[in-house]
Amino acid sequence: MALLSGDLLNEKIAIVTGAGRGIGEGIARKLAHEGAIVVCADVNFSEAERVARDCGKQASGVRLDVTQAGECDAIVKNILDRYGRLDILVNNAGINRDAMLHKMTDEQWHQVIAVDLSGVFFMTRAASRIMRAAGSGRIVNISSASWMGNIGQANYAAAKAGVVGLSRTAAKELARSQVTVNAICPGFIDTVMTRSIPEAIREQQVAKIPLGRAGQPADVAAVVAFLASDEAGYVTGEVINVGGGYVL
Ligand code: NAP
Repeated sequence: MALLSGDLLNEKIAIVTGAGRGIGEGIARKLAHEGAIVVCADVNFSEAERVARDCGKQASGVRLDVTQAGECDAIVKNILDRYGRLDILVNNAGINRDAMLHKMTDEQWHQVIAVDLSGVFFMTRAASRIMRAAGSGRIVNISSASWMGNIGQANYAAAKAGVVGLSRTAAKELARSQVTVNAICPGFIDTVMTRSIPEAIREQQVAKIPLGRAGQPADVAAVVAFLASDEAGYVTGEVINVGGGYVL
């Protein structure tokens, strides 16, 4: 049995969205470390390329805006043409545009739903067509602890709750094809997304974490690597918190 370092994902073909920084970068690095050939996809091409360079010779960086269904279809087709298969999809790209409900603009609502929910749908639909035919595959969706409700995040919570429903539905539909679909709900992870939060609020949030520290992208990436591996073949439709006990 493979160990959780080095060869868990030997030669698997993986795509990670939002891989240009933060949690997505951590996931891309971890999957590559475990032997996967990783396509690092991000709306910011230069950052995707930077991460891909660090992920080794076989990795590649591509520009992808997950809000564009046509781009999602095209990138999955490119992977199929190039490698003949797609083993792992990690839907990580996400944004937040926080505001209290009564002040939230239509634009803030639509932007977050477009990236955090529709983007996951477009990529999952495209990948599922290939994985169904192949009779195997792993889809890991990055939701958030906020899916259960969080002040100032009506748009984000709705999108992330949508990701849970989408993941569980996809898990049911794809199980007969031996494709697993799971959602991870990170708590408070130290990235650009959380560094924009005022210091006093950050400290309050971290103080609520039983394990006593903010998470790191590597904490999330380790769980993704397991769920993406052959060894997780009997785990599907799960919603897994990675938050240092944040939700306890
Ligand atoms: P981040 O540091 O802001 O990184 C997100 C990445 O996604 C950026 O590189 C961003 O590119 C890219 N992106 C944005 N819109 C995109 C699009 N339309 N298509 C493709 N890529 C796009 O965020 P993070 O903290 O790593 O978060 C990663 C995921 O974890 C998100 O889904 C987030 O909701 C979730 N999450 C984060 C936390 C946390 O505490 N950080 C907690 C729970 C869940 P640009 O730089 O060009 O915008």
